[in-house]
Amino acid sequence: MASSTAPLSAKASSDGSASLKQTSNTFLENAHAALQDAGKAERRDLMALFTPIVRDAAMKNFGHFEALREHVKQVKQHSLEHLGHYLNQFEQAALHNGNHVHFAEDGEQLNSIVLDICQQHSARRIAKGKSMVTEETGLNDFLKRAGLKVMETDLGEYIIQQAGETPSHIVGPALHKSAAEVRELFFAKHDLGERELAETGDMVSEARRVLREHFLKAEVGIIGANALVAENGYTMLVTNEGNGDLCANLPNVLVICTTIDRVVPRLEDATAMLRLLVRSATGQPQTCYTSFYSGPRREHDIDGPLETHIVLLDNRRTEILASDYREMLQCIRCGACLNHCPIYAGVGGHAYGWVYPGPMGSILTPLLTSLEQSNALPNACTSCGRCAEVCPADIPLPDLLRDLRHDETKQKLSSSRWRLGMRLHGWLARHPALYHAVTGLAISTLHLLGARKGSFARLPLAAGWTSQRDFPAPQGRTFMQQYAARQRQEKDSEHKAAQNPGKDTTASRATSARAKAGRGAARRGAAERIEPSLRVDWPRKPDPRRPGGVRPAAEDSGKKPGAHPGGPRGKKPRRRRDHD
Ligand code: SF4
Repeated sequence: MASSTAPLSAKASSDGSASLKQTSNTFLENAHAALQDAGKAERRDLMALFTPIVRDAAMKNFGHFEALREHVKQVKQHSLEHLGHYLNQFEQAALHNGNHVHFAEDGEQLNSIVLDICQQHSARRIAKGKSMVTEETGLNDFLKRAGLKVMETDLGEYIIQQAGETPSHIVGPALHKSAAEVRELFFAKHDLGERELAETGDMVSEARRVLREHFLKAEVGIIGANALVAENGYTMLVTNEGNGDLCANLPNVLVICTTIDRVVPRLEDATAMLRLLVRSATGQPQTCYTSFYSGPRREHDIDGPLETHIVLLDNRRTEILASDYREMLQCIRCGACLNHCPIYAGVGGHAYGWVYPGPMGSILTPLLTSLEQSNALPNACTSCGRCAEVCPADIPLPDLLRDLRHDETKQKLSSSRWRLGMRLHGWLARHPALYHAVTGLAISTLHLLGARKGSFARLPLAAGWTSQRDFPAPQGRTFMQQYAARQRQEKDSEHKAAQNPGKDTTASRATSARAKAGRGAARRGAAERIEPSLRVDWPRKPDPRRPGGVRPAAEDSGKKPGAHPGGPRGKKPRRRRDHD
């Protein structure tokens, strides 16, 4: 499938719009430039401190994270395994509700469909809600070039649109901007007269004043969707500002732009996802507005659009579904992986050089554009694993990043020196005795050489590290050597404790500590078991003989209970690929 994704960078053009240029492969240069701005770096540090605390508190109060995460993962996997069926079911139900449904193979097609709709209604003004999908396709610039006035109505999106920038975060697009910068921007772009905009609230009121006027004049509203419900053809949207509802209900024509992987079988699947999405994104138990759109205004409705269109974008997602990276389609766009990533915190979203930043962006960008254009991104990762720990869709992000690095090596996109080093390392790692001998010798040597100063200002083969900071001198033994010594020590103590059962030895204290830890883990396991009120039954297996229909559940049909309720699973997603 041809890709027509519009590459983006954060550079403003003369007319205030973001210029379109993918810069993912200059990640290191972008990151270096980002680090020069001390003010932005300080704000990123604050965000990196603050957002995980808020998210952790929300999950702690909720108390069912693990169980619901498993459930959401299985719902998403089931939906993706039967994607054709559920899309068909969604389409039939949405048409039945009076919507027009369009399928767009790529970004160019989505843009053309939306423009056609606008032109059919002689629309000049568009009120637009936040949508990363339309960032992916470059819709705003496309419509602007056709002479339409598109106004972003999410406050963060509005700010960056005024600044001619692109989002730096998938949930908080203007997180990189300070209040002072926004004030300056409004002074430059708005007719403020004598007003000072001294408080943040004044700036919000000013944006609201401008946006309200536009809401009332717009002929077409464009929004995104967080989920598509196959059983009733509804689309779900969550916002904190209510701008999505104003875009959806005030203009006469509504266009919903989203992607095919958003479909889930039932309403309760969408709401189960919602419980994790919101807590993971902003730490709230619920967003201020959660809306389900069914279709155009009915006879007895007092408001709502007269015509609604749903545009479903593929843009390589079916290719991803058929690949080893299909787990990435489970992503619910919560942004938690960004908020917990030390690299994202260090350099910010624009350094990633395309629409999606952070760990999810480092995987999606190569998949949606090409690995050649973005092979720097899978390497922008320390493999710390925090992203996988917090991901509500349980996507093994570090595994996928490592697989992309493997593909990079296989396609010879990395330097030959790097590939040689990796081959040598791989060979050594497959010979453990030699590996331990070599690393043991290297660590002892470094220990001796660095003992006096305690660190190295320069080291051969480690210039990437030492150009930024000193390398600490090792303590003299490798981790494996220390671990083996500790195991021996514990074994000796246990042996002594067995010979002197009455004595309070180190081993008996260690044994009782382990037993206590075991009881704690059991208690935590019990707490993690989901409450009956939160349980959601399995989606039923689609019946291929009845488009839009479902087969009876295993229990009803007399099948063996406990069988996978979604039917036989397709190719089981692998957690990790065997690398040669
Ligand atoms: S990869 Fe996971 S954590 Fe990151 S945005 Fe997607 S769902 Fe959220």
